[in-house]
Amino acid sequence: MRMAKATLRFYAELNDFLPPGRRQRDLTQPFAAPAPVRHLIELAGVPHTEVEVILLDGESVDLETLVGDGQRLAVYPVFESFDARPLLRLRPAPLRTPRFLADAHLGALARRLRLLGFDTRWLNDLGDAGLVTLARREGRILLTRDRRLLMRRELTHGCFIRPVAPQKQLACLLERLQLCPEIAPFTRCTLCNGLLEERRPAQVQSLVPPRVRASQEAFWQCQDCKRLYWRGSHWQAMCRRIQALCPDWAPGSRDPGS
Ligand SMILES: [Zn+2]
Repeated sequence: MRMAKATLRFYAELNDFLPPGRRQRDLTQPFAAPAPVRHLIELAGVPHTEVEVILLDGESVDLETLVGDGQRLAVYPVFESFDARPLLRLRPAPLRTPRFLADAHLGALARRLRLLGFDTRWLNDLGDAGLVTLARREGRILLTRDRRLLMRRELTHGCFIRPVAPQKQLACLLERLQLCPEIAPFTRCTLCNGLLEERRPAQVQSLVPPRVRASQEAFWQCQDCKRLYWRGSHWQAMCRRIQALCPDWAPGSRDPGS
């Protein structure tokens, strides 16, 4: 090992992870050579889950490639539209059905993802190691605002959630992972992530207030926690919010509200 220097350049939104004075320019990074690309990127404060393509002296490389003195790294974020065919993409194949694990601080985002039909676990009593293990075991994308968590080497699929407001967090995630074609609103319990099943009014008579029974013809029940859903007064507003995120979506006749 000897002290060496590499030049790093981060592109597009990866600059948000850098201190203001270090954005959008070449950075000189001292390090003990040789070191894997992963190490240099994380020294700069950028989680590996946010990186899609890395060029080392112009050659596409992976996170474990060793960097020596005087080399130059160009680091690009996850770009859906980026034509990277000649380049080596860092991610393993995308998870075919996107499933999520939200960390303790993202409960509101988790409920919104469930409303759109995405299988989303939210656990507020697991430590960092527990979250990473669960994400791997169940093939879930770990959602967090904690970049240190995303720097864990064992983690394969993670997503840094930049905005603070839950609705903006949702919009950001839909955009980054191109999720609109996958949404199935009102098919999942927002409370516990269970799937909803349709119920005839006669089946739920004893479970809903008379006023609701008189005005509603369709009901849905969570298979797990048994909570009942119907098209309440917020139904139209919720549909408009979903359409604002995914303009191609239209409510179907079989969808419950709450
Ligand atoms: Zn439920």
